[in-house]
Amino acid sequence: MSLNTSIRSKVWLSSPHMGGNEQSYVKEAFDTNWVAPLGPNVDQFEKAIENFIDNNVYAAALSSGTAAIHLALELLGVSRGDEVICQSFTFSASANPIMYLGATPVFVDSEKDTWNISPELLKQAIESRIANGKKPKAIVAVHLYGMPYKIAEIKEISEYYDIPVVEDSAEALGSSYNGVNCGSFGAIGILSFNGNKIITTSGGGALVSKNEDYKKRAVFLATQARDEAPHYQHSAVGYNYRMSNILAGIGRGQMEVLQDRVNARRFVYQTYFDQLSHLKEIEFLQEPTGYYSNRWLTCILTPSFETREEIRNVLLEHNIESRPLWKPMHLQPVFEKYINFSNGTSEDLFNRGLCLPSGSNLNIEDVNYIIALIKTVIS
Ligand SMILES: *Cc1c(COP(=O)(O)O)cnc(C)c1O
Repeated sequence: MSLNTSIRSKVWLSSPHMGGNEQSYVKEAFDTNWVAPLGPNVDQFEKAIENFIDNNVYAAALSSGTAAIHLALELLGVSRGDEVICQSFTFSASANPIMYLGATPVFVDSEKDTWNISPELLKQAIESRIANGKKPKAIVAVHLYGMPYKIAEIKEISEYYDIPVVEDSAEALGSSYNGVNCGSFGAIGILSFNGNKIITTSGGGALVSKNEDYKKRAVFLATQARDEAPHYQHSAVGYNYRMSNILAGIGRGQMEVLQDRVNARRFVYQTYFDQLSHLKEIEFLQEPTGYYSNRWLTCILTPSFETREEIRNVLLEHNIESRPLWKPMHLQPVFEKYINFSNGTSEDLFNRGLCLPSGSNLNIEDVNYIIALIKTVIS
C-alpha cells in the first residue's frame, strides 16, 4: 500500500455523530417555546436513558457529567474534611468534584485486566485510612475507555465496608457486565454527553440511580434548591446544573442510535485488532469473560514511551489525532500531594499507551490508513 501524503482532511480521535432526528426534536422545542431547562425533551430523554440502562433506574439530565459527580458525592453525604477514594487512572473530572466539596481525594491505582481500580489496592487503601481514623465516605470507580471495572469485586468491598460507589460511566454508556448495563451498578451512576463521548448533546450529563430519592434530590439541587413556596425560598445551597430542553432534544435523537454507535465503535476496534494484534509490539485491552465494552476509544500499548511518541508523531504529521492514555491523577501537579496507593500500572499505561481515532463516523479507509502508518513505525 502506498501512503499518499496529499492533503487529507483531519481525522479526529472521537467526533460527534448525529443520527438524523436530533434537529426535529430541537425544532419541536422551538415550535412549542420550551426553550428552558425543563420540558418534554428533558422528560423523554430521561425516559430513554432509563429504558436503555435498566427499567429500575431513575435518571436526572444535567448540564455535565462533572455536575453529576458533584451532586452524586453531595447526595452521598460527602462534605468538607471527608476523604473520598478515587480511581487514579481517569480524566480529572472524576476527581475535581471531590475538591469542590472541600473533601480530600485518596487515589488508588489500577489492575491490568480492565485498567480500572484495583480491588486489592482499594481494600488496602480503605484499611489503611480506617486505621488512621479516616473512613472514606465514597469510592469513585471508573469504566475507563468503556471497559467495565471489576464489578463483582468492587461491589463486595463496597458492601463489606459499607462505603457507597459513585460509578463513573461517562465513557461507558452502552457497556455491560454479564448482560447488565453500566450506570446501574453503583449507589449512583453518572453519564456524560460531552462532544467527544459515545453519544452527545454537545455538552451534558446525567445522574442515574435505583433510588428515586436520589433523582428527586438531584433535580432539586440542580435547580437552585427551591423549596415549595410561591416566593423563592431556600433551605439548602443549590446549583444551576439542569440540562436545557434544547440539548435534551439532541439527546433524544442520539439515544435512538446509541446501539448503532456502539456497534460502529466495536467494529473500529475489531479492525485495528485484526490487523495489528499479530505484531508482538502492539497490545490491546481485551474483554475478560462477561465484559462488554462500548469501545469508546481503541487503545494500544507499545513497547516504550519512545515508540508511542513515534507513532503519535507520524499520525500527527498525517493530520491524524491520537492521544496518550490518561495521565494518572496521582502524577498530576494539582493532585500529587494527596495520598495514593499505587503499583505502577497506570504510570506504565500512561507511558506506553495511545488512544487511536475511534469515532463511529470514521471511514474504514482512514482506519486502514492509520493501521498502515503504525506498521511503518513498527517494522
Ligand atoms: C468526560 C468524563 C467526565 C466528565 O463529563 P463532562 O460531561 O465532560 O463533564 C467524567 N469522567 C470521565 C471518566 C470522563 O471521561
